[in-house]
Amino acid sequence: MAEKYFTPEIETMPRDEIKKLQSERLVKQIKNVYENVEPYRKKMDAAGVKPEDIHGIEDLHLLPFTTKDDLRDEYPYGMLARPLSDCVRIQSTSGTTGKRVVAFYTQNDIDMWDECCARAITAVGGTKDDVVQVCYGYGLFTGGPGLNGGSHKVGSLTLPMSSGNTDRQLQFMQDLKATILCCTPSYAEYLAESAINTGAIDNIHIKAGIFGAEAWTEEMRRDIENKFGRGMKAYDIYGLTEITGPGVAFECSDQGGMHVNEDYFIAEIIDPKTGEVLPYGSKGELVFTTIAKEAFPMIRYRTRDICVLSDSQCPCGRTHVRMSKPMGRTDDMLIIRGVNVFPSQIETVLLEQGYEANYQIIVDRVNNSDTIDVNVEMTPEKFTDNLGKVADMEKQLVSALKSMLGIFAKVHLVAPRTIARSEGKAVRIIDNRKL
Ligand SMILES: [Zn+2]
Repeated sequence: MAEKYFTPEIETMPRDEIKKLQSERLVKQIKNVYENVEPYRKKMDAAGVKPEDIHGIEDLHLLPFTTKDDLRDEYPYGMLARPLSDCVRIQSTSGTTGKRVVAFYTQNDIDMWDECCARAITAVGGTKDDVVQVCYGYGLFTGGPGLNGGSHKVGSLTLPMSSGNTDRQLQFMQDLKATILCCTPSYAEYLAESAINTGAIDNIHIKAGIFGAEAWTEEMRRDIENKFGRGMKAYDIYGLTEITGPGVAFECSDQGGMHVNEDYFIAEIIDPKTGEVLPYGSKGELVFTTIAKEAFPMIRYRTRDICVLSDSQCPCGRTHVRMSKPMGRTDDMLIIRGVNVFPSQIETVLLEQGYEANYQIIVDRVNNSDTIDVNVEMTPEKFTDNLGKVADMEKQLVSALKSMLGIFAKVHLVAPRTIARSEGKAVRIIDNRKL
């Protein structure tokens, strides 16, 4: 099958022209944020950089980084580059310790995001004759709205299923003849297994899947492809709310890394310790600058994802650089059922509820679904062998964690000083998932 592009003139643009386009847009964006976003102006002033110093992408390294803490400090409106009246949408991350990151979009920002997702859908063979089943969550989470918008742009028939309710997912998948599936890889695997177990698989014609929002392996890819059968292909997609949502980068037919939409985003790899920019091919922290976004521009945003960028020629004909799957994090963030979870969030809940920060998080994957168990030491004051009382205390913690994390975590209260310690500190995270 010949490779199809949603925006061929952009996606196959010669590299020197991409760089030229990036340079023009960067210069404009930096002038814009310096004039309109006080935190950027302050940071640039502190670093002694003026908009006039930025002549093109070769000067990008002069600019200060932006971190998640900056976004939290400026919650909710501090990073806005446009009046609120120009904005039409808010999306949000499952943030850490109370304050979430809220991202704002103008209509142009939404159109750009939709286009990124349309490129991803086209790259996996999607056309207006396809039926795209989106089972990412809809709402504040960017997964559902992003692929939904992309599917509309391609002109595919869109099934906005949102997450959960596997029976209904499989029923619609059969009855409405879905051909492209968008969800987390673990849910794709679960759907395939359920379809095999119920015999529904014989009536399912998924030809491609766009799977993101959590880590997955090549083995898992082959496994999903085999389970759906009929030559089905599983593709990766990458994104984050701060930058736009899913579609910042997407996989093509080559399945060898994700093309970054470089007309909208400049990707860099840095040494997470020194901040030094590393050449293509080096492993380091991924950093993005949004050069076309209007409402919520990000300048050198540190994603905390560790990966590798490559500008080697791709057989698909796209010229935009490819990023590897994230190989880890520079912080201790866990991704559980597509939701970002930080140990610090759990710690905050424990302290609020009168416990000490002696706990252990055990993450596993059971039947293709992530599970999270939190062992918490009772304090000597709280310690009791009254099982009814312990159950009540556990229930209270489960509900407090649910409201902080947005997902269910099982809680087990244990006696004081019973969690294994290393150098005096409880071992915080045990991740038993094979990723
Ligand atoms: Zn490619």
